[in-house]
Amino acid sequence: MSSLITLARGCLHCPKAFCSAACPLHNPISEALSLYEQGQIEAAAKLIYERNPFPELTGALCERFCAKNCVKHRLGQPIAFSPFESEIAQYPDRRKKKEPTAKHIAIIGAGPAGLAYAYKRLLNGDEVTVYDRYPSIGGALYAFIPDFRFDKKILDQVAKRLTDRGCHFILGQEVKGELKGYDHVVYATGAYEANLAGFKLSEKIAVGLDLLYGLKHGDLKLSPTGSYFIYGGGNVALDCLRSLARLGLDVTLVYRRSELQMPGDKEQLMLAEKEGAKTRFLTVIDKVEGDQLLLKKCELGQLGEDGRRSFKVLEEGSELVPFAKLYLCLGERSSRIEGRTYIGDAAIGSSNVAAAIGSALALD
Ligand code: SF4
Repeated sequence: MSSLITLARGCLHCPKAFCSAACPLHNPISEALSLYEQGQIEAAAKLIYERNPFPELTGALCERFCAKNCVKHRLGQPIAFSPFESEIAQYPDRRKKKEPTAKHIAIIGAGPAGLAYAYKRLLNGDEVTVYDRYPSIGGALYAFIPDFRFDKKILDQVAKRLTDRGCHFILGQEVKGELKGYDHVVYATGAYEANLAGFKLSEKIAVGLDLLYGLKHGDLKLSPTGSYFIYGGGNVALDCLRSLARLGLDVTLVYRRSELQMPGDKEQLMLAEKEGAKTRFLTVIDKVEGDQLLLKKCELGQLGEDGRRSFKVLEEGSELVPFAKLYLCLGERSSRIEGRTYIGDAAIGSSNVAAAIGSALALD
């Protein structure tokens, strides 16, 4: 018996499924696990493909909102659906394409949202061309997610699934201006504009995405000595932190709220700490003074409308620390042009792979 079937048997099939409610794709987890328990994996796959065209992507990269909201979480035995998604992705999606519509759709951006929308329109019988400035599909997954966290062979599987359905790709080419000759153009251009929070980029201050791109694709040279600082608490910050810790560098994450409040994946933080990274929570980098950073302590305040505690910077207990390089990971934005249709991070802001796919599938 597969270990996943044993795991599926642990599902309590709660009348109110918090796991599915928390999943950005609202995967029918309880129903799929019932099928798994009976060994009906193809039937479980059929059910999941209706909501998620790329279970291999969420299986590999989702932050497991399902497990965090599983009622067994309190017992320390939550069920995460992502390993099931990875296995389901080995089964074909047997949905049939509809009759050709004679419509031709262009999608700019081959990240998870662009690819999910392409797949949806292909099934609808439309002709689809996807453009991307990078030489591969994947968007941020190709450009920034470190190899230790994401096996890029998964992108080959996704590309095959799309080309088998007739998708055209024009890669390694930036689209400038308006695309002509299509019935509809959809923008899945991601959110890549870093928030600099008043810092000026320099030899010693750079953005986290550039670090990740440079490590993954370039020959970025980093000094083996000196202290590196990562400023932020999201997944970009954690990817930077782990990347530098794994290189054996002295690296510290600085985040203004507490560990509990940080938006990044706690599992990645735990791994970073095991790999030697340090953390300073409830701390801000107030300013740069020559070769030093002025760190100030913070305390948490009231719960805000966004569901997160506010923070207040304290004047006492500030500290100057020497630094070799500071990487800013304080969020990314996208700029949009009125009248265009956007999906994924370009529409909803920097998010996660499941939310990006969900945003694409919500568009007609
Ligand atoms: S997409 Fe994420 S939240 Fe949804 S079932 Fe998969 S792992 Fe869980």
